[in-house]
Amino acid sequence: MNTPVCVRFAPSPTGPLHLGGVRTALYNYLFAKKHGGQFMLRIEDTDQTRFVPGAEQYIMESLRWCGLQWDEGPEAEGQKGPYRQSERKPMYRQYAEQLIQSGKAYYAFDTAEELDEVRERMKASGNNAWQYNSITRVNMKNSLTLPSDEVQRRLDSGEPYVIRLLVPRNTEIKVNDLIRGVVVVKSEHIDDKVLFKSDGMPTYHLANVVDDHLMGITHVIRGEEWLPSAPLHVLLYASFGWTDTMPKFAHLPLILKPDGNGKLSKRDGDRLGFPVFPLEWKDPVSGEISSGYREGGWYKEAVVNLVALLGWHPSDNQEVFSLEELIEAFSLEKVAKAGAKFDVEKARWFNQHYLRQQTDADLLRDLKPHFQSLNASEEGLLKTIALVRDRAVFPADVVQDVNGLLQAPNAYQKEAVESKWKVDSGEKIEALGAWLSGQTDSRAEFIGTAIKSWLAEKNWGIGSVMPLVRIALTGGLTGPDIFETIALLGLEESRKRIEAFHRQMQK
Ligand code: GLU
Repeated sequence: MNTPVCVRFAPSPTGPLHLGGVRTALYNYLFAKKHGGQFMLRIEDTDQTRFVPGAEQYIMESLRWCGLQWDEGPEAEGQKGPYRQSERKPMYRQYAEQLIQSGKAYYAFDTAEELDEVRERMKASGNNAWQYNSITRVNMKNSLTLPSDEVQRRLDSGEPYVIRLLVPRNTEIKVNDLIRGVVVVKSEHIDDKVLFKSDGMPTYHLANVVDDHLMGITHVIRGEEWLPSAPLHVLLYASFGWTDTMPKFAHLPLILKPDGNGKLSKRDGDRLGFPVFPLEWKDPVSGEISSGYREGGWYKEAVVNLVALLGWHPSDNQEVFSLEELIEAFSLEKVAKAGAKFDVEKARWFNQHYLRQQTDADLLRDLKPHFQSLNASEEGLLKTIALVRDRAVFPADVVQDVNGLLQAPNAYQKEAVESKWKVDSGEKIEALGAWLSGQTDSRAEFIGTAIKSWLAEKNWGIGSVMPLVRIALTGGLTGPDIFETIALLGLEESRKRIEAFHRQMQK
């Protein structure tokens, strides 16, 4: 019988979740749901020096916002807890000792100063990459080189030590990655990693492997930055004798800058105006605020959709996926090996798509508090929303355009005026204002045709008048169809705004 799928997202609470972390969580979630398995959340907080207050809450809130609820983890207790490595601390020592007993690990007593000294000495003789490994360990202070009674004495006297993995010599370690295929590494290239520290804390590698084993993880799906650690993890499984139940590995490609030149960073986001974090994050030390998708008016459906397609695509051309559709379509086989470029325009396209899924009434309900015209009727607001929404990418665009229409402009964009105002402009808009006061039918189609034939009669080009009308009505040169705008505002209000603009330009 096949073991049921069980995967985990295992962030370290060292800061906010980056888009890459969101994608790792998402792929784990999709994979679990696709296979009717379990999606766990485990907090890897063994490294207390890198602990950042608020990061764990932030991670959980981000996952929840994206709709990625974990089946087991903090705040969702189940069979396999606790879910924070700091709370699992008492479990790890026995595993480190098990390795010592079976001759797969050893005690090392070298102090930090001694290690620095060796490194310095090696550097001086041209070796910049000294490592504690299967060759150098014979010259160091450890339970392989010291007599056993001395080792015991040192341990009994409470001397600080670490437990290191005894990496075998002349062995090939094979990592079978579901995305990358087989990667073979010679054991000479792996150093004798510290597994356990004398302060009683395991290192990341030991805790990660022990927890994956104890929690029955069947697939480790994580970012490419962990690929170099995979051979060590495979070796650890072998050292414990857990090879039969070792999880399968899948390392996800990097998320790249829009130009493909390196890893996507927060700086790229700042430069190009898009967030790299799901939620706004306030750095607890510097107080610096980084923007988040949620606060920036992005739809979570858009974020999930765009993140899903960073490195994965099913064979057909479908681009818009709900979370359910993603679950249905997802497979690790279709995850690319090559890095995925973040495409800002595409991201905006997704948000626009999801904004368009909202009805006018949805938008009114969500945005009402932001509309400034207090006396506009519900019907008026709905009409205005309907008129402006097509151009909007974000809800804030709708708000801005609605407010821009509902209120007479109190200023006119300087560049707009400068580019459109000519010597005869005053005469033209004054005449148009007067003409409007004699009109009675404000329907867009009618008023459009009527204005055009009036202009033709006068022999005035549309382009010499209508941009001025737009400035008069909205303050600037952008906005929805101008005749629709006149229809929405009504003939009386439109005329007033045109006259106000004219007066302003006479000054
Ligand atoms: N704690 C690691 C991280 O922060 C997890 C690596 C893994 O998934 O094995 O990414």
